Amino acid sequence: MKLWMKIMIGLGLGIVAGLIFQEKAALVKPIGTLFINAIKMLIIPLIFSSLIVGMTSLKDSKQLGRIGMKTLAIYLVTTAFAVCIGLLVSTILQPGAGMMIDMGKAVSAKQAPPFIDTLVSIVPKNPLGALSSGHVLQVICFAIFLGIAINITGEKAEPFKKLCESVAEIMYTLTAIVMEFAPYGVFALMAYVVGQYGASTLLPLLKVILAVYIGAIVHVIFVYGSGVGLVARLSPAKFFKGIVDAQAVAFTTTSSSGTLPVTIRCTQENLGVSKSVSSFVLPMGATVNMDGTAIYQGVAALFVAQASGIDLTMSNYITLILASTLASIGTAGVPGAGLIMLSVTLSSIGLPMEGIALIAGIDRILDMARTSVNVTGDAMTSLIVAKSEGEFDKEIFDATEAV
Ligand code: ASP
Repeated sequence: MKLWMKIMIGLGLGIVAGLIFQEKAALVKPIGTLFINAIKMLIIPLIFSSLIVGMTSLKDSKQLGRIGMKTLAIYLVTTAFAVCIGLLVSTILQPGAGMMIDMGKAVSAKQAPPFIDTLVSIVPKNPLGALSSGHVLQVICFAIFLGIAINITGEKAEPFKKLCESVAEIMYTLTAIVMEFAPYGVFALMAYVVGQYGASTLLPLLKVILAVYIGAIVHVIFVYGSGVGLVARLSPAKFFKGIVDAQAVAFTTTSSSGTLPVTIRCTQENLGVSKSVSSFVLPMGATVNMDGTAIYQGVAALFVAQASGIDLTMSNYITLILASTLASIGTAGVPGAGLIMLSVTLSSIGLPMEGIALIAGIDRILDMARTSVNVTGDAMTSLIVAKSEGEFDKEIFDATEAV
């Protein structure tokens, strides 16, 4: 049986087990944690080595610049679509209508760090510290600098380049080994989440959940479907089939950074994206491109406005679009990060922060959908960029069966 089928079965059985055993399903949580730890173990060595391989195997520095520009452009455009879809769905469904937010409730979410601080801290003052503490953005930055320096240094840098190539290959093999364990990890995580959220937590906020999930599905089908079909001129069905492993892992682990090894593997082995493009586009996407999070920011902001009876003006909407886009870029690819960044979006138009406390109760369920969308967006971008740069292997893509 194919791995993706086993993962889907794990997911389905996990839901059933969670419904049957409810809170007792928490017993299997350590199996899920083990799986998450095993994938996380791969992240830093994988990003570091594969990014350097990617940077040093591109044809020239102009190509690197072009790939960077295309990647950022696609990330921005899809994120803008995502925010608008989130606002639209929330306007139609009115998830907060008729609710009254209890203004007395304490706000439990942490404050988001100022945007400028995040920007400045991207350059690591201690690269080894960045590697050992797992600071993904800093590691990306360091690897990019190293890649440029290796290219300039030339022959003397060859041994280090070879070492990175070797480490990257080993990490790809290790990813395949860890993924064999995915069906069990996915089962355990699903059982735990479903068991933990009883109907009493979910029902009052069912419309918010619906809005985020509908927004996610609409975005994936229309924006990514047309990105693959119309821009890359490839079969969307094959694309979706090719990244289903990454989507399932994202759904259950709720971390784009954590899913990165799987996303890299899917794009290279099923979609035919070259190693240089995938290792450059994906780590960047896992930290800055968060379309699912942007949908969620839009839905959540309108929900809070509706629930507290605040009417929004046109300029409020425009501010919201900007703030949600920035918040999604600033969101780290780790579980629950979007909830923290919600404070940025809400405060941009003066909405009550108490809304965060309300949404916190169901955030995990929303995080599952948004993280799956986030990694799908990264994968689509890598495919479009690879196709346009001649870094795409059609044979590998065609060999992937359509759904
Ligand atoms: N968990 C999401 C991710 O890793 C980020 C978020 O919380 O929105 O992509």
